[in-house]
Amino acid sequence: MIIKPKGTYDIYGSDAKYYNYINSLFSTIAEYYNYKFIRTPIFESSELFHRTVGETSDIVSKETYDFVDRGERNVTLRPEGTAGVVRSYIENKMYGEVNQPIKLYYSGPMYRYERPQAGRYREFTQFGVEVLGSDLPIQDAEVISLAYRVLEEMGIDNITVKINTLGDAESRVNYREALVKYLEPHINNLCPDCQNRFKTNPLRILDCKADKDSDILKNAPSILDYLNEESKNRFDKVLEYLTILDVDYELDSNIVRGLDYYNHTVFELVTDMPELGNASTLGAGGRYNNLVENLGGPSTPCVGWACGVDRLMIILKELNKDSEITDNVDVYVMAVNDEERLTAARLVQDLRWSELKVEYDTLDRGLKAQFKAADRINARLLVILNSEELNKGIITVKDNLTKEEVKIDENEIIDYIISNL
Ligand code: ATP
Ligand code: MG
Repeated sequence: MIIKPKGTYDIYGSDAKYYNYINSLFSTIAEYYNYKFIRTPIFESSELFHRTVGETSDIVSKETYDFVDRGERNVTLRPEGTAGVVRSYIENKMYGEVNQPIKLYYSGPMYRYERPQAGRYREFTQFGVEVLGSDLPIQDAEVISLAYRVLEEMGIDNITVKINTLGDAESRVNYREALVKYLEPHINNLCPDCQNRFKTNPLRILDCKADKDSDILKNAPSILDYLNEESKNRFDKVLEYLTILDVDYELDSNIVRGLDYYNHTVFELVTDMPELGNASTLGAGGRYNNLVENLGGPSTPCVGWACGVDRLMIILKELNKDSEITDNVDVYVMAVNDEERLTAARLVQDLRWSELKVEYDTLDRGLKAQFKAADRINARLLVILNSEELNKGIITVKDNLTKEEVKIDENEIIDYIISNL
């Protein structure tokens, strides 16, 4: 037997219900906010991720699926969605479109070579949004509140937005200096990864999962004390808008995010469910005002986030949302002989094209077994076709809730069913 690759899983059965529910709820809400759908390739040139996500990030240094294709090109399965969207924005000159800013949403599989565990896979799904071209704090707040509302709408309580700012370049340089000075005497007590990060990208140390509970990190200086006036005012404005929008937020100066491209606002959406272990972050994002320019486009301020669908599936399962995501069938059509089945085939098609969810027997089961099958899939109305009645132009309809049975003229059957559901 051939088995699935490590860190992947098949989505079917009730998982499939959750998966579709999450994605469709997200796209519905994103459309209310007037974001447009974008789909970019699942593989891109490796250079794209090296230049955007960053050589020193965990994702690029340890987690990418890189390969050389048959034409000897270096390609990478995308580990996240932003890089591809930004590449597309530049390549398709979206900055020249009349409707600005460009507001996009996406959903699809991502690939990271991680150690698989609860809520952490090698193939997983993210949905996310990116707004390209707006620098106002109100835009940061809109983007964050969109994520917050989507999670809330799924019935997940206790969502907190942990928020921080990385400030502008000047604030960051000042902070970096202070942080390095503070960490230097302690560096041998941190994990080997952090000892490397100390040389390459010291801010990353604050994001370390291994060291996150150590006093060294807890007592580290906060960036909030190193912001220049402009960065501080900007951050205060974002928070003011979040308050207006009823978003529950918490300042957390240890949030720096794992990717290289962020500046100013950075945030994570977390919940306190024990089932998720160290995978309790549902979504994360921030502002990245330099990325478009770094990739060769015009200077364009951007902000966005991505949420993990797989973790949301775990939560919805835990919250037992199954019964609320209905997949009940509207009508079950019963037929046992050839003549009845011919009528059934046509009736089922007509009902389906009346936008009803309809099922019938294709296993040659007897009437009794068909009643049971209809019960199991919670069919609401049962249409019982019977040769004798059909010859008189009559069809029996049974309401499976009230158990009431009526005889209907075959010409009125569709109207009757539609008005009785
Ligand atoms: P973590 O700190 O949990 O490793 P991250 O900082 O690597 O997360 P992002 O790159 O910001 O995560 O991705 C945003 C969201 O995507 C995460 O909050 C999570 O919900 C989801 N996610 C990231 N990596 C995985 C994975 N390997 N398996 C499942 N979901 C993931
Ligand atoms: Mg990670």
